Amino acid sequence: MIKNSLEKIWLFDYDLTLYGAEERYVINSLDHRISLFVQKTVGGDFESAHKIRTEYLERFGTTLAGLMAMHGTNPDDFFDFIHEPEYLIYPKKSPDKLALLQGLNGLRFVFTNGRHDWSEAGMAHMGIDSAIDGVLDLKQLGWVGKPHDSAYEKAEGWLRQRLAQMDYAMPAYPRDIILLEDSLRNLEPAHRRGWTTVLVNPTVSAPDWVDYCIPHLLDLPSILETAEK
Ligand SMILES: [Mg+2]
Repeated sequence: MIKNSLEKIWLFDYDLTLYGAEERYVINSLDHRISLFVQKTVGGDFESAHKIRTEYLERFGTTLAGLMAMHGTNPDDFFDFIHEPEYLIYPKKSPDKLALLQGLNGLRFVFTNGRHDWSEAGMAHMGIDSAIDGVLDLKQLGWVGKPHDSAYEKAEGWLRQRLAQMDYAMPAYPRDIILLEDSLRNLEPAHRRGWTTVLVNPTVSAPDWVDYCIPHLLDLPSILETAEK
């Protein structure tokens, strides 16, 4: 069980973690824009753009990394295009999630491979933005995100700085940094650094090294140690 204490740092992935698999249409709306951007950059029809996208994803880790390597794409141009609000769907309002997040002691941040405006708009739609203390996004990571080790190293540096500004000390133990993620691949480097890992995924079964596994964010209380226990 995770002790819900003030010393804890809660780090949430955004896509398919803060909003879950049941709202997959949210990320699908973004994926459609990504394929359109690839088509705009590479040329050809939508079908082949979609194929190239999948190739880049496999070869470079993300579509953006492939576009940057192969076409010199400016990452801000990419995000400006795919984050155009009129084409996107956002997660539903969730007072339950707000209550859950507010009930977590310690500080709560988002650690995302997207640009901050996407998760910030989504959290505003969910009505949970007031419960989040900050967003560490791909731009601040120098466009090299999870699961690259550099992203986790930079996250620790960023946290040290943010915490100092908020008059908080960095946790004494790495295990007091808790990463909640739907992607196993993105949890692995966190595990190697000694952070506590929580897989939030209703379909993937967790290997032994994963500390906790819950199907949805709202199941988080099931792995929290309450004050009474
Ligand atoms: Mg995710």
